[in-house]
Amino acid sequence: MENVRGVEVHYYAICKRKLWLFHKGIRFENDGHERVIEGKILHEHAYPKMDKDVELEAFVRIDRQDGDVLREIKLTSKMKKADRLQMLYYLYILKQKGIRKTGLLSYTKEKETVEVHLDDDGEQEVRKALANIQTILEGNIPPFQKLPYCSKCAYKDFCFSGEADQDES
Ligand code: SF4
Repeated sequence: MENVRGVEVHYYAICKRKLWLFHKGIRFENDGHERVIEGKILHEHAYPKMDKDVELEAFVRIDRQDGDVLREIKLTSKMKKADRLQMLYYLYILKQKGIRKTGLLSYTKEKETVEVHLDDDGEQEVRKALANIQTILEGNIPPFQKLPYCSKCAYKDFCFSGEADQDES
């Protein structure tokens, strides 16, 4: 199994094509993009008293850690399902090391915090996601599929170009 980053588990839940492109090193993330800047400011300044950018594995980092709590900070709760799977993955990695923690997803726009616990079902969900991710990464680029998320995606221009049309034919 290839090393899978937390953000890749998140992309898997949003769009298999985005996962594939990102994993293959094809990046169009624009540092000047407003939401990227907002995210960076948030990442720097939110929860200053907690340990920041904690390494769970060489390829996996979590936003914040404080005792038994892992925290991921998100601008909005629009991608709750993907956020939850990403957090379950972090909790799963720690469980492999014999460490049990609680996950918290903090949504700044809605001022909401969601708790995430790794139970048997959650662990099953992570294992299934990792197996699917491996299959996707071993295959060809997944076909373009118009999703509600596309308009905000860094790969939008790439996917909406002729390259995508060829994939659909
Ligand atoms: S633009 Fe849409 S199809 Fe293309 S990678 Fe992004 S979300 Fe996926």
